[in-house]
Amino acid sequence: MLFAEVIVDISVKSLDRPFQYRIPEQMEEQAVIGVPVIIPFGKGNRERKGFIVGLSNTPQYDINKTKAIIKVEKQGVAAESHLLSLAYWMKENYGATMNDAIKAVMPVRKEIQQKVERRIFPAFTEEKLREVRELFEKKHNVARVRLLDGLLGLKDLREEGLLYEDAVKMLNVPNKVIKEMEQLGIIRISSKRLYRNPLEEKRIADNRKRLNEGQQAIVDTFQKDYDSGVRKNYLIHGVTGSGKTEVYMNLIEHVIRNGQQAIMLIPEIALTFQTVNRFYGRFKEKVSVMHSRLSAGERYDQYQRVKNNEIQIIIGPRSALFAPFSNLGLIVIDEEHETSYQSDTMPKYHAREVAIQRAKMLSASVVAGSATPSLEAYYYCQTGKFQLFTLKERAGNAAFPTIQIVDLREEMKAKNYSIFSRTLQEKIEACLEKEEQIMLFINRRGYASFVSCRECGEAIRCESCSVSLKPHIYHGKVSLLKCHYCGAQKPMPVVCPFCGSRYIGTFGLGTQQVEEIVKKQFPQARVLRMDADTTSGKNGHSRILQAFAKKEADILVGTQMIVKGHDFSDVTLVGVLAADLSLNASDFRAAERTFALLAQAAGRAGRAEKPGDVVFQTYQPEHYSITCAAAGDYENFYRQEIAVRQMLHYPPISNILEVLVFSKEQKKTVLLSEQVHKIIGAEKEITILGPGDPVFAKLRDFYRRVLFVKAVRYQTLCEVKDRIEDFMQEQEEYKDCTVTFRFN
Ligand code: ADP
Ligand code: ZN
Ligand code: ZN
Repeated sequence: MLFAEVIVDISVKSLDRPFQYRIPEQMEEQAVIGVPVIIPFGKGNRERKGFIVGLSNTPQYDINKTKAIIKVEKQGVAAESHLLSLAYWMKENYGATMNDAIKAVMPVRKEIQQKVERRIFPAFTEEKLREVRELFEKKHNVARVRLLDGLLGLKDLREEGLLYEDAVKMLNVPNKVIKEMEQLGIIRISSKRLYRNPLEEKRIADNRKRLNEGQQAIVDTFQKDYDSGVRKNYLIHGVTGSGKTEVYMNLIEHVIRNGQQAIMLIPEIALTFQTVNRFYGRFKEKVSVMHSRLSAGERYDQYQRVKNNEIQIIIGPRSALFAPFSNLGLIVIDEEHETSYQSDTMPKYHAREVAIQRAKMLSASVVAGSATPSLEAYYYCQTGKFQLFTLKERAGNAAFPTIQIVDLREEMKAKNYSIFSRTLQEKIEACLEKEEQIMLFINRRGYASFVSCRECGEAIRCESCSVSLKPHIYHGKVSLLKCHYCGAQKPMPVVCPFCGSRYIGTFGLGTQQVEEIVKKQFPQARVLRMDADTTSGKNGHSRILQAFAKKEADILVGTQMIVKGHDFSDVTLVGVLAADLSLNASDFRAAERTFALLAQAAGRAGRAEKPGDVVFQTYQPEHYSITCAAAGDYENFYRQEIAVRQMLHYPPISNILEVLVFSKEQKKTVLLSEQVHKIIGAEKEITILGPGDPVFAKLRDFYRRVLFVKAVRYQTLCEVKDRIEDFMQEQEEYKDCTVTFRFN
């Protein structure tokens, strides 16, 4: 007798374990790992959906009491069973229920009514058809005659057939009559599945380029590896515009030519734009998209098309990573450093890491690309996990812009209190004069706020964690500074601890505020603003970007949204108003993000024939993330940043597990966070920071506390996570509390 371990499709912690079911003999063949099944569940034996996650010959309980599977759902299984083991890996590595992990890897599980197109074809020659028609006419079978007239009226009888719907609706032929005619063998009915295709059937030309030497070398190496059966991970470090996308397309082409499939991940924000169109131009109907803005029907259909082998390439944000290909050859991750690859719901996975794992399980390759690689990816190149390729030149004819760093402390001394330095003001004037376009960029990160000195530029940081301290405001005044990692507190100083200046305070700059100032200071300019407020709605982004592309405005003011992957050939000036905004964000990746944002912002200027000009305004002009971004020197930046990470035991040298505790009761939350601290215990290998208040100490009625656990070995942190999970399983009094995990 055969038994199946089944995970029940309910997101309840206590049920998040496999239950054993008997497999009826007649189902033995279909009941394999990965298939969905219907099972009787609970006292009332309600029918529930579940997934088979294991098989065995030994019963766990009394065989007579073991329930049997009711039904095995028919579905292509190969991809599913693989995705299921990937889900298991994610559950183990990121801490989530098996059910949540399954939901992440198999988001499309409900069948959505398919669209079918039915057509009616004559089963006879035209001549014979006319004879039959005569016959029916004599018998006054008017409906049959109408149907035959419809068929005889077609231009090309055999080729196109008659749409079933037209026969019913326009020719007024009852369904019954059509059926009779089919049974009489006079007509044939064909049905074809219609897919809801999210890509508009636009004619996009394939603008294939002759690869330059650098690009060709990458393609050659990859192909040679691929052809000799080598599958591994690569990183393409290529400056903006160096032709990485062109390389991806060539690699993918090679893989699908060999009968395999490919996934192309792009950051959320780039989705609606150029990349998808370029792929569509090259690969036509072989490519489709998968993302959360598709309708349920569209999503279901893409899923089916992938499973039926009708699509070879899927493009999409991180969730596209789970496209159910069964013969996957390559996963490309464009703009690998982007934050949208980090999932913020359980399981809180990072797409790069899961891609590496999925590729390993299926023996496929991974190609990540970026102008500003994450420290992780570049570190992997040093440790041999990735092979590094470098593209230093721009592929088209665009030249690199001239970049200038402006010291805002000098502006203070010269009594210029405007948000624009004198240099930037002059450049804006000149640019407006020439009728060229300008982008003004506010690199604010989330809700980051910090305290800094306007005279010396220093921000107040935590001594042990090196991140800037977060001001806590009571009655409109900053009273306390807190470290969001270790919870350390300091009173707000009266004078700058570095230079003694009284010009110390919180620093903030909003897009709306900047827009108003720009309008006042440059009344002749037409201004557009792009931020979270102005881009709500489905086409919010594209509306503003298109207006700017059509030169309906001279100046575009915005957050990081404006610097990502959009090409405007008339933009010749890019101004970063305060590089410090991202530099002093209170997390350990602040310098890395700043470098990436500045490099990207610079990449927006002068992409076509016109040369570009870039200005970085900052109070910390000597900070390496700013000087290296201005010099376009990633390697130098990496060297300095990795040394900092090494010193403070931050990733990628060490690992950090973020443990977030929350509940509706403040007291309980605090108690539990202290309990969790105890459970983690004082091992030699690990350092615990906190518990402390997270950035949002209260969110949607939930009180939150956070702990950070550092360890050199990733496995150590997984064990810590397991211990906390076990504890939560056993505890009755913390039943209404939740603990979530994130590996940083
Ligand atoms: P990236 O992805 O690195 O930013 P792209 O692939 O988008 O770079 O290329 C930047 C621009 O250069 C695009 O307009 C592209 O068409 C063009 N380009 C890419 N490769 C070549 C090449 N070998 N010859 C000429 N132009 C190229
Ligand atoms: Zn100072
Ligand atoms: Zn600290």
